[in-house]
Amino acid sequence: MILKERELLQIDEKFICRLREQDPDALAVLSIKLISDLKEVLERLNQNPSNSSRPSGSLAHWDKGIADDDDEDGSTIDEKEVLRPETGIDKEEPSDIADTTEEVSPTSKETTERCKPGRQMGSQGFGRTQKLEVTGTTPHSCGCCSACNEDLTSIEKAYTGFHTVNIEFGNTDSPGVRLINTLNLYYMGRCPKCGLENCTEPWRAPADNSDWKDVGMTQWRLVGPDLAALIVYLSMDMRVTRRKVKQFLWDVFGLQLSIGTLQNCMVEAARALEPVEAQLIEDLCRESMMHADETSHNEAGKRLWLWVFISSSTALFFIGCRTKEIFVNLFDALTDFNGHLMTDGYSLYRAYLKRLRCWAHLLRKAKGLSESYTKTSQTYGKQVQDILNDLIEAVYLAREGPDRGTVSISVHHQETLKNLRKVCDAMAVSSHKKTRELGVEFLNDWEAIFRVLEYPAWPLTNNEAERALRHWVIMRKITQGTNSEQGSRALALFASVFVTCRLRNNSPLLYIRDVINMRRQGHDIPKLPQMPALEVA
Ligand SMILES: [Zn+2]
Repeated sequence: MILKERELLQIDEKFICRLREQDPDALAVLSIKLISDLKEVLERLNQNPSNSSRPSGSLAHWDKGIADDDDEDGSTIDEKEVLRPETGIDKEEPSDIADTTEEVSPTSKETTERCKPGRQMGSQGFGRTQKLEVTGTTPHSCGCCSACNEDLTSIEKAYTGFHTVNIEFGNTDSPGVRLINTLNLYYMGRCPKCGLENCTEPWRAPADNSDWKDVGMTQWRLVGPDLAALIVYLSMDMRVTRRKVKQFLWDVFGLQLSIGTLQNCMVEAARALEPVEAQLIEDLCRESMMHADETSHNEAGKRLWLWVFISSSTALFFIGCRTKEIFVNLFDALTDFNGHLMTDGYSLYRAYLKRLRCWAHLLRKAKGLSESYTKTSQTYGKQVQDILNDLIEAVYLAREGPDRGTVSISVHHQETLKNLRKVCDAMAVSSHKKTRELGVEFLNDWEAIFRVLEYPAWPLTNNEAERALRHWVIMRKITQGTNSEQGSRALALFASVFVTCRLRNNSPLLYIRDVINMRRQGHDIPKLPQMPALEVA
């Protein structure tokens, strides 16, 4: 919008007539501004989730399913987290699980008492008492009159202002990080020519029905975008508790910020990032291979699931129930996705036809059987292990080979597969529970399991997805989960952005800084950083 609300209120019939007599050219200029604003308002009125990047809330209904745990493959999620693949199929990175020795934050204990975060009713409030030296002033000048373009710089006066504390990242010439405290001044002045009272105002998002009512998007913020991004980075990427972030800011920058202010920064950043989800879905739909996995999540005592859908360059996280309804809804959003989907044995995924199965899970179950006390189960387990390991060898050879994995392994191993099928048929009716389950699993997922043999360049395990979840599993152990729907939403958005930026070899810190900066001024969210182009030697 070019004209401020306060200015519009002054422009009426009388004002227009007067301006026409004084300066017809100025009236033309004003009319152009009015038309432009009118069009912007009309466009905004016609906006809906289908034609804009407006937060659609379309993902919110995923949160609203009802848990049904009877539709599972028999393996529990906890089992997945505890048992890491030992198959040596794909090399695992060293686990950073050791981090869990970090203390449980005092804030998470407080949350179990279910009091509303922030200042409690009746408690004494604390204003900001710290006086920081002002390191710079940013004038928000009117410049020229909105109506007649008369120069106002000599008569306008500052009428309001606020401080923003921020950090400045250094560069190669001057490295390091510096704390700055900027005084933002807003000006007003009555135009001597047409009489319009001009003024500048910090941008503020118009009220809407968004889920983030408690923290508005506005320029009027104590914490600058770089510092806000650092707070998000420390909390989410470094898994530092709010209390520790507060301590860090005091120790490193001598800056006093309350836990409430830090919390506001987190909510504001999540709100700012919300439109990124549409970009992530768009990017995922273009991929030819995607991994999916899920892990349990605690939201205020409610058992939910953190899902991840991840490709080589994009990750989408969300928190909801582990139900069919949610999966179907998610695939409605990913309707343009036409690639292959790598998953574990969770039966819900069977609805997706172009599916690949993680072999690590199968090998783990086969190993379990080979160590059982029933002779036939032992033999079956050994057999499955041997066959899968032989095929893995063949897949690796094919990948290295001159055909680069275009030769079909299933043709060469026809007999082996036929035998395995026969054994699985027999085991699917075994009286031994685990043996029967593995037999049935093979029969149910046969196509998905052995699809990789047609194109050996495809992955054999779901390690990509499991690795992407691991950081958040550790975080869950530290924070005990989230305590509201909004907190869960924020966590999923942050996870999506951090993992995607990392996959693209870009800094999530700087991207989040840019997002906060742009959204505070009412601009669209910047595009997610793309993969850096490969350097050609
Ligand atoms: Zn004027």
